[in-house]
Amino acid sequence: MTITLHPVAIAHTPFAEKFAIPRQPALAPAARARIELLPPYNSPLALEGLQQVSHVWLIFQFHQALASSRQQPASLRVRPPRLGGNEKIGVFASRATHRPNSLGQSVVALEKIEGCSLWVSGVDLLDGTPILDIKPYVPYADAVDGAHNQIASDAPTLIDVNWQTQALDQAQQQASRLNQDVVALVQQCLAQDPKPAYQQPTPERHYGAQFWDLNIRWHYPAPNRICVLAVERIS
Ligand code: SAM
Repeated sequence: MTITLHPVAIAHTPFAEKFAIPRQPALAPAARARIELLPPYNSPLALEGLQQVSHVWLIFQFHQALASSRQQPASLRVRPPRLGGNEKIGVFASRATHRPNSLGQSVVALEKIEGCSLWVSGVDLLDGTPILDIKPYVPYADAVDGAHNQIASDAPTLIDVNWQTQALDQAQQQASRLNQDVVALVQQCLAQDPKPAYQQPTPERHYGAQFWDLNIRWHYPAPNRICVLAVERIS
């Protein structure tokens, strides 16, 4: 059986590449996004009542994990970054992006509705991610008392993020241009420690990621400490 799905919306997020995106929603509250409804759902009628809701579920496609899953079925076992990238578990025991049908789901805070766009925060989605459905969060059903997950019991431990003076100045300048809280976003995303858990970073090794049109660069002066080196506009 083949099922064809059509996006109902597109996510406009700060994250131009996968690296340094938080691994789950709500970990970086400064990660704000605009969810733009697409025809034929780009009507205020489709949003009637949503003003009464604080959070929504976004059901989406990992569109940048698609290429490999089209060529062959997803692997039955995956190596989640949380387990250091070496240990394997079943694909259905993980939130891996390479999975059957490439479907993801994230619960995000609904900040406001503006025309046919939803402004949300705490996203873990790449810019341009196709949204397949939007559903209201229902606290009495979705928040499960006594639930546990022994593979991912708590949010990841945060690491220290310091800034070189020049990088902080650059981030503040870019924040005014973009009208976005660049400092908070960089701080919150890097505190999650984006590098693969198995890597032992040396201070000489520089890392980078793109948020909007900004090249964010950092290094690890010590294994569990990040220093932001630059926040430069890509010309
Ligand atoms: N909360 C969702 C879930 O559980 O289904 C996503 C979890 S997944 C582990 C989050 C990661 O997916 C992000 O850190 C990012 O690297 C990756 N990602 C986000 N959007 C993507 C997209 N459109 N295509 C491929 N990978 C994506």
